[in-house]
Amino acid sequence: MRNREPMLKIEDLSTRFVVQEGVARAVDHLSYHVFEGETLGVVGESGCGKSVAALSILRLIPIPPGKITSGKILFMGQDLLQLPMKEMRKIRGAEISMVFQDPMTSFNPVFTIGYQLSKVFRLHQKLSKKEAMRRSEEILEACEIPSPERIMKEYPHQLSGGMRQRVMIAMALGCNPKVLIADEPTTALDVTIQAEILDLVLRLKKKFGMAMILITHDLGIIANSAQRVVVMYAGEKIEEADVFSLFEKPRHPYTVALLQSLPVLGRAKKFLNEIEGVVPPPFKKIPGCKFAERCPEAMEKCWQERPRLRAIEKGHSVACHL
Ligand code: SF4
Repeated sequence: MRNREPMLKIEDLSTRFVVQEGVARAVDHLSYHVFEGETLGVVGESGCGKSVAALSILRLIPIPPGKITSGKILFMGQDLLQLPMKEMRKIRGAEISMVFQDPMTSFNPVFTIGYQLSKVFRLHQKLSKKEAMRRSEEILEACEIPSPERIMKEYPHQLSGGMRQRVMIAMALGCNPKVLIADEPTTALDVTIQAEILDLVLRLKKKFGMAMILITHDLGIIANSAQRVVVMYAGEKIEEADVFSLFEKPRHPYTVALLQSLPVLGRAKKFLNEIEGVVPPPFKKIPGCKFAERCPEAMEKCWQERPRLRAIEKGHSVACHL
């Protein structure tokens, strides 16, 4: 029976960046939550604010130019935004971990994998050097990495992209976190390796019993992985539903367009449907619906009035005037 209190809950989160063009509203009054053991998919094109929201959860936004201007980030009931940085560092990597798209940016190129991995255990679990090394080998093994002793002696650039990502996953899971944030974990990899890594992440998530926030631009990945989905556009949540309702009865024209851009097995198509236009720049002031410029259904009202998120069915909400 699932604990009814979410493990992690974002409430009315806004993150801004002061840029030359003005104030960029990267995340605009965003709310979502994830329960223990659940996978929440967060989907949208690049520049929709998915990753900025994830970095805000861990308070990894560079200040300045960035700033979290409103909201709460409740982890097991406590607001992370109110914690002193020292306390926040204890939570980061130990209670809430993140896997990034490009593992190269997470590793220090001048240290071996063994040194970097064991440092996590020495830092968070206060293990001795020897114990931390042993624990590192164990976690590499648990993440199905062959010859862990050899990998421990290698430098990040000596590993293939897929292996680096596996090691980063091992590093993220090392302290048995309660929440894993996976930000486009397979995007930078070869197509053949992508499915393998996604499958590994899902199996490990189950094995470790974590909650997971899976961030992706690809709804296809969400279909087989998440229980619930949040669709983001231009910093806002525009639709939320369980994965079946979203795929069967998408309500927001943007979600519909995302689904139409997916390849369908057995249906030959020369070109995939693309959503025309681009996400509006985050510093542009838009009084109405931010999707209006690209929306085939746009009406007069859409240009003037911002659609509010409203529930249309249990667990299914949408921000659209239609
Ligand atoms: Fe399209 Fe209007 Fe709905 Fe926006 S509010 S998605 S412009 S129909």
